[in-house]
Amino acid sequence: MAPETFWVVVAGVLGAVLGSFLNVCIVRLPAEQSVLRPRSRCPKCESPISWYDNVPVLSWLVLGGRCRRCRARISVLYPLVEAAAAAVWALAVWHYGLGWSAVAGAVFGTLLLGIAVTDARTYIIPDEFTLGGLALGLALALTRGLDGLLWAVVGAALGLAILLGVAWAGEKAFRKEAMGGGDIKMMAMVGAFVGWKGVLITIFGGALLGTLVFVPLTIGKKRLVPFGVFLAAAAAVTFVVGEEIVRWYLGLALGPR
Ligand SMILES: [Zn+2]
Repeated sequence: MAPETFWVVVAGVLGAVLGSFLNVCIVRLPAEQSVLRPRSRCPKCESPISWYDNVPVLSWLVLGGRCRRCRARISVLYPLVEAAAAAVWALAVWHYGLGWSAVAGAVFGTLLLGIAVTDARTYIIPDEFTLGGLALGLALALTRGLDGLLWAVVGAALGLAILLGVAWAGEKAFRKEAMGGGDIKMMAMVGAFVGWKGVLITIFGGALLGTLVFVPLTIGKKRLVPFGVFLAAAAAVTFVVGEEIVRWYLGLALGPR
Protein backbone atom coordinates (compact mmCIF):
# COMPACT_ATOMS: atom_id res chain seq x y z
CA MET A 1 0.00 0.00 0.00
CA ALA A 2 1.35 3.42 -0.94
CA PRO A 3 2.01 5.66 2.09
CA GLU A 4 -0.61 8.17 0.86
CA THR A 5 -3.27 5.46 0.68
CA PHE A 6 -2.27 4.23 4.14
CA TRP A 7 -2.87 7.67 5.70
CA VAL A 8 -6.19 8.07 3.88
CA VAL A 9 -7.32 4.75 5.40
CA VAL A 10 -6.05 5.74 8.88
CA ALA A 11 -7.93 9.05 8.59
CA GLY A 12 -11.09 7.19 7.54
CA VAL A 13 -10.91 4.88 10.57
CA LEU A 14 -10.28 7.85 12.89
CA GLY A 15 -13.23 9.65 11.28
CA ALA A 16 -15.51 6.65 11.88
CA VAL A 17 -14.55 6.55 15.57
CA LEU A 18 -15.09 10.32 15.88
CA GLY A 19 -18.40 9.85 14.05
CA SER A 20 -19.44 7.39 16.75
CA PHE A 21 -18.71 10.04 19.40
CA LEU A 22 -20.46 12.64 17.23
CA ASN A 23 -23.62 10.50 17.43
CA VAL A 24 -23.46 10.74 21.22
CA CYS A 25 -23.08 14.53 20.95
CA ILE A 26 -25.98 14.80 18.45
CA VAL A 27 -28.34 12.91 20.78
CA ARG A 28 -27.21 14.26 24.15
CA LEU A 29 -26.11 17.89 23.64
CA PRO A 30 -29.60 19.24 22.76
CA ALA A 31 -30.93 17.48 25.89
CA GLU A 32 -28.08 19.03 27.93
CA GLN A 33 -26.80 15.61 29.01
CA SER A 34 -23.15 14.67 29.55
CA VAL A 35 -21.48 13.23 26.46
CA LEU A 36 -19.00 11.29 28.61
CA ARG A 37 -21.24 9.46 31.08
CA PRO A 38 -23.05 7.12 31.18
CA ARG A 39 -21.74 4.97 28.35
CA SER A 40 -24.01 4.20 25.40
CA ARG A 41 -27.19 2.26 26.16
CA CYS A 42 -30.00 0.80 24.11
CA PRO A 43 -32.75 3.49 24.10
CA LYS A 44 -35.43 0.79 24.65
CA CYS A 45 -34.14 -1.83 27.14
CA GLU A 46 -31.36 0.41 28.52
CA SER A 47 -28.79 -2.40 28.53
CA PRO A 48 -25.25 -0.99 28.11
CA ILE A 49 -23.76 -1.51 24.64
CA SER A 50 -20.52 -3.53 24.71
CA TRP A 51 -17.50 -2.31 22.74
CA TYR A 52 -17.91 -5.11 20.17
CA ASP A 53 -21.48 -3.95 19.48
CA ASN A 54 -20.28 -0.34 19.19
CA VAL A 55 -17.85 -0.68 16.26
CA PRO A 56 -18.71 2.16 13.85
CA VAL A 57 -20.94 1.14 10.91
CA LEU A 58 -19.99 -2.57 11.13
CA SER A 59 -21.87 -3.41 14.36
CA TRP A 60 -25.06 -1.85 13.03
CA LEU A 61 -24.75 -3.93 9.84
CA VAL A 62 -23.90 -7.17 11.71
CA LEU A 63 -26.84 -6.74 14.11
CA GLY A 64 -29.19 -5.81 11.26
CA GLY A 65 -29.91 -2.42 12.84
CA ARG A 66 -31.28 -3.92 16.06
CA CYS A 67 -30.31 -4.13 19.75
CA ARG A 68 -28.59 -7.47 20.50
CA ARG A 69 -30.63 -7.93 23.67
CA CYS A 70 -34.19 -6.71 22.97
CA ARG A 71 -34.10 -6.50 19.14
CA ALA A 72 -35.40 -2.91 19.19
CA ARG A 73 -34.62 -1.00 15.99
CA ILE A 74 -31.56 1.24 16.10
CA SER A 75 -31.85 4.28 13.80
CA VAL A 76 -29.98 4.12 10.49
CA LEU A 77 -28.85 7.67 11.29
CA TYR A 78 -26.09 6.27 13.56
CA PRO A 79 -24.16 4.30 10.88
CA LEU A 80 -24.83 7.08 8.34
CA VAL A 81 -23.23 9.74 10.58
CA GLU A 82 -20.27 7.39 11.23
CA ALA A 83 -19.84 6.71 7.49
CA ALA A 84 -20.12 10.42 6.67
CA ALA A 85 -17.50 11.36 9.29
CA ALA A 86 -15.21 8.59 7.97
CA ALA A 87 -15.64 10.00 4.44
CA VAL A 88 -14.94 13.56 5.62
CA TRP A 89 -11.63 12.57 7.28
CA ALA A 90 -10.52 10.25 4.44
CA LEU A 91 -11.36 12.84 1.76
CA ALA A 92 -9.63 15.65 3.68
CA VAL A 93 -6.33 13.71 3.81
CA TRP A 94 -6.76 12.52 0.21
CA HIS A 95 -7.46 16.05 -1.05
CA TYR A 96 -5.01 18.11 1.05
CA GLY A 97 -2.38 15.50 1.92
CA LEU A 98 -1.18 14.94 5.47
CA GLY A 99 -0.96 18.33 7.21
CA TRP A 100 -2.81 21.12 9.02
CA SER A 101 -5.07 21.90 6.03
CA ALA A 102 -6.39 18.35 6.15
CA VAL A 103 -6.93 18.60 9.92
CA ALA A 104 -8.77 21.92 9.54
CA GLY A 105 -10.94 20.52 6.73
CA ALA A 106 -11.75 17.35 8.64
CA VAL A 107 -12.53 19.16 11.92
CA PHE A 108 -14.68 21.71 10.09
CA GLY A 109 -16.53 18.97 8.18
CA THR A 110 -17.19 17.06 11.41
CA LEU A 111 -18.55 20.18 13.15
CA LEU A 112 -20.82 20.96 10.17
CA LEU A 113 -22.09 17.37 10.10
CA GLY A 114 -22.92 17.55 13.80
CA ILE A 115 -24.64 20.93 13.41
CA ALA A 116 -26.67 19.86 10.35
CA VAL A 117 -27.97 16.65 11.92
CA THR A 118 -28.70 18.22 15.33
CA ASP A 119 -30.47 21.22 13.77
CA ALA A 120 -32.54 18.98 11.47
CA ARG A 121 -33.61 16.75 14.40
CA THR A 122 -34.19 19.33 17.13
CA TYR A 123 -33.87 22.89 15.70
CA ILE A 124 -31.07 23.37 18.21
CA ILE A 125 -27.44 24.17 17.39
CA PRO A 126 -25.46 23.41 20.55
CA ASP A 127 -22.79 25.86 21.81
CA GLU A 128 -20.30 22.99 21.98
CA PHE A 129 -20.30 22.86 18.17
CA THR A 130 -20.40 26.63 17.59
CA LEU A 131 -18.36 28.22 20.39
CA GLY A 132 -16.19 25.10 20.83
CA GLY A 133 -15.76 25.01 17.05
CA LEU A 134 -14.86 28.72 17.00
CA ALA A 135 -12.04 28.06 19.49
CA LEU A 136 -10.82 25.11 17.36
CA GLY A 137 -11.01 27.22 14.18
CA LEU A 138 -8.94 30.03 15.72
CA ALA A 139 -6.38 27.56 17.10
CA LEU A 140 -6.05 25.83 13.71
CA ALA A 141 -5.72 29.22 11.97
CA LEU A 142 -2.76 29.95 14.24
CA THR A 143 -0.89 27.07 12.52
CA ARG A 144 -0.65 29.55 9.60
CA GLY A 145 0.90 32.20 11.86
CA LEU A 146 -0.48 35.53 13.08
CA ASP A 147 -1.71 36.40 9.57
CA GLY A 148 -3.77 33.21 9.64
CA LEU A 149 -5.20 34.09 13.03
CA LEU A 150 -6.09 37.63 11.93
CA TRP A 151 -7.79 36.23 8.79
CA ALA A 152 -9.86 33.90 10.99
CA VAL A 153 -10.77 36.62 13.52
CA VAL A 154 -11.95 38.95 10.73
CA GLY A 155 -13.99 36.09 9.20
CA ALA A 156 -15.57 35.22 12.56
CA ALA A 157 -16.37 38.88 13.29
CA LEU A 158 -18.01 39.38 9.89
CA GLY A 159 -20.07 36.18 10.21
CA LEU A 160 -21.24 37.30 13.64
CA ALA A 161 -21.96 40.88 12.51
CA ILE A 162 -23.98 39.94 9.40
CA LEU A 163 -26.21 37.44 11.18
CA LEU A 164 -26.70 39.79 14.14
CA GLY A 165 -27.80 42.40 11.59
CA VAL A 166 -30.17 39.94 9.90
CA ALA A 167 -31.61 38.91 13.28
CA TRP A 168 -32.11 42.56 14.29
CA ALA A 169 -33.76 43.45 10.96
CA GLY A 170 -35.92 40.32 11.11
CA GLU A 171 -37.17 41.18 14.58
CA LYS A 172 -37.99 44.72 13.47
CA ALA A 173 -39.85 43.46 10.39
CA PHE A 174 -41.72 40.45 11.81
CA ARG A 175 -41.86 41.37 15.52
CA LYS A 176 -40.62 37.90 16.44
CA GLU A 177 -37.34 36.04 16.50
CA ALA A 178 -36.39 35.50 12.87
CA MET A 179 -33.02 33.92 13.44
CA GLY A 180 -31.89 31.71 16.30
CA GLY A 181 -28.86 32.49 18.45
CA GLY A 182 -27.43 29.14 17.32
CA ASP A 183 -27.27 30.31 13.69
CA ILE A 184 -25.50 33.53 14.73
CA LYS A 185 -22.84 31.72 16.78
CA MET A 186 -22.52 29.15 14.02
CA MET A 187 -21.58 31.81 11.45
CA ALA A 188 -18.83 33.12 13.76
CA MET A 189 -17.41 29.56 13.85
CA VAL A 190 -17.76 29.20 10.07
CA GLY A 191 -15.99 32.55 9.55
CA ALA A 192 -12.95 31.32 11.49
CA PHE A 193 -12.60 28.44 9.00
CA VAL A 194 -13.48 30.16 5.69
CA GLY A 195 -12.44 33.83 6.17
CA TRP A 196 -14.48 36.93 5.29
CA LYS A 197 -14.98 36.13 1.59
CA GLY A 198 -16.06 32.65 2.56
CA VAL A 199 -18.60 34.12 4.98
CA LEU A 200 -20.24 36.08 2.15
CA ILE A 201 -20.35 33.01 -0.13
CA THR A 202 -21.69 30.80 2.68
CA ILE A 203 -24.52 33.18 3.66
CA PHE A 204 -25.50 33.75 0.02
CA GLY A 205 -25.35 30.00 -0.73
CA GLY A 206 -27.20 29.04 2.45
CA ALA A 207 -29.99 31.55 1.82
CA LEU A 208 -30.31 30.41 -1.81
CA LEU A 209 -30.36 26.72 -0.83
CA GLY A 210 -32.80 27.36 2.01
CA THR A 211 -35.14 29.22 -0.32
CA LEU A 212 -34.98 26.64 -3.12
CA VAL A 213 -35.40 23.62 -0.84
CA PHE A 214 -37.46 24.86 2.04
CA VAL A 215 -39.95 27.38 0.72
CA PRO A 216 -41.72 24.87 -1.61
CA LEU A 217 -41.97 22.41 1.31
CA THR A 218 -43.47 24.87 3.73
CA ILE A 219 -45.89 26.98 1.70
CA GLY A 220 -49.05 27.28 3.75
CA LYS A 221 -47.54 25.42 6.70
CA LYS A 222 -46.07 27.05 9.77
CA ARG A 223 -42.81 25.28 10.26
CA LEU A 224 -39.48 26.24 11.72
CA VAL A 225 -36.62 26.45 9.25
CA PRO A 226 -33.50 24.51 10.27
CA PHE A 227 -31.41 27.20 8.58
CA GLY A 228 -28.25 25.69 10.07
CA VAL A 229 -28.62 22.71 7.73
CA PHE A 230 -28.39 24.94 4.65
CA LEU A 231 -25.63 27.11 6.11
CA ALA A 232 -23.67 23.93 6.90
CA ALA A 233 -24.00 22.62 3.33
CA ALA A 234 -22.98 26.00 1.88
CA ALA A 235 -20.07 26.31 4.33
CA ALA A 236 -18.70 22.88 3.37
CA VAL A 237 -18.80 23.75 -0.35
CA THR A 238 -17.20 27.14 0.39
CA PHE A 239 -14.33 25.56 2.35
CA VAL A 240 -13.44 23.30 -0.59
CA VAL A 241 -14.07 25.54 -3.63
CA GLY A 242 -14.59 29.04 -2.15
CA GLU A 243 -11.45 30.42 -3.82
CA GLU A 244 -12.63 29.15 -7.22
CA ILE A 245 -16.05 30.74 -6.66
CA VAL A 246 -14.44 34.11 -5.83
CA ARG A 247 -12.23 33.92 -8.95
CA TRP A 248 -15.18 32.92 -11.15
CA TYR A 249 -17.29 35.79 -9.74
CA LEU A 250 -14.52 38.37 -10.19
CA GLY A 251 -14.07 37.06 -13.75
CA LEU A 252 -17.75 37.73 -14.41
CA ALA A 253 -17.66 41.15 -12.75
CA LEU A 254 -14.48 42.34 -14.49
CA GLY A 255 -15.20 40.68 -17.82
CA PRO A 256 -12.78 38.62 -19.92
CA ARG A 257 -9.21 39.85 -19.98
ZN1 LIG B 1 -32.31 -3.10 23.70
